[in-house]
Amino acid sequence: MHSDTWVIPKDVYAARIEGRCVCGTVHWSYDAPLTTMTHCHCAMCRKHHGTLFSTMVGGPLSTFHWRGGTENINTWQSSPQARRSFCLVCGSKVPGVEHDSQQVFMPAGALEGELGIRPQMHLFVGSKPDWHLLTDSLPQHVAYPPEWGAHAVENPARNVREGVVGGSCACGRVRFELEGRPLVMMHCHCTRCRHARGSAHATNLAWKLDAIRYTVGEEMLTVFDLPEAQFFGTTFCSHCGGFLPRRSPGRGWVVVPVGSLDSDPEMTALGHQFVASKASWFDITDGVPQFADAAPRKS
Ligand SMILES: [Zn+2]
Ligand SMILES: [Zn+2]
Ligand SMILES: [Zn+2]
Repeated sequence: MHSDTWVIPKDVYAARIEGRCVCGTVHWSYDAPLTTMTHCHCAMCRKHHGTLFSTMVGGPLSTFHWRGGTENINTWQSSPQARRSFCLVCGSKVPGVEHDSQQVFMPAGALEGELGIRPQMHLFVGSKPDWHLLTDSLPQHVAYPPEWGAHAVENPARNVREGVVGGSCACGRVRFELEGRPLVMMHCHCTRCRHARGSAHATNLAWKLDAIRYTVGEEMLTVFDLPEAQFFGTTFCSHCGGFLPRRSPGRGWVVVPVGSLDSDPEMTALGHQFVASKASWFDITDGVPQFADAAPRKS
């Protein structure tokens, strides 16, 4: 059979996975099978994705293809061993290609299609905030599983001034403080949040608009507004891509990605919203109320 008559078998074709950033410029495809799927609670993942944890899938590089927008990818060296990639327009997390090991690691929340894999374990639970309780039955590792022989990089906690809630981006060039108490905390499973954060879901807090003060590095912020959306957008550090609080004057709020915080917000989530758009591979096990669409607002 000549190679030009070769057709992709239907079962393989059906396993195609597509991924894209939330502004749609960076996109890629991958043909199964994937080999790893992990939730990571390390401080760098939480800050880079702006979430309680990241969810990444990995597999051989051979069936991975960029489909467009690679000129919009920015890369940040988060440790001597690790680089992290994001869309410089919208801040969405995008795949990391490792040529040495011939592996690709993709942000799971940015993917559409049947992944053919489920989360296998929690990494770096030793770094998660004490107030974030894990309620599923997956294996938990303090850092990496011992059989990976991987070197864990320590990221010391950043100090916060007494009496405020503080936060920073992953590289530390941008820092902020929030006065007073948050109004609400919510998990969001909408497609836009998943594609931007690259994780199972976003977790955001809202404070009153005037509660935020950027103390260092405000000039580093990139602010992206999704053109077709009433409110959706992102704010992130142009250097590292870490998601940061976003002013939303239309609502009178500042929307704070939980992963950017360096202190305990002393609040629990009101609910999971937009669970109708939830990633099929993610199970909600925490008993927190679920809303198919937007959570009802107190008026
Ligand atoms: Zn983008
Ligand atoms: Zn991590
Ligand atoms: Zn940064």
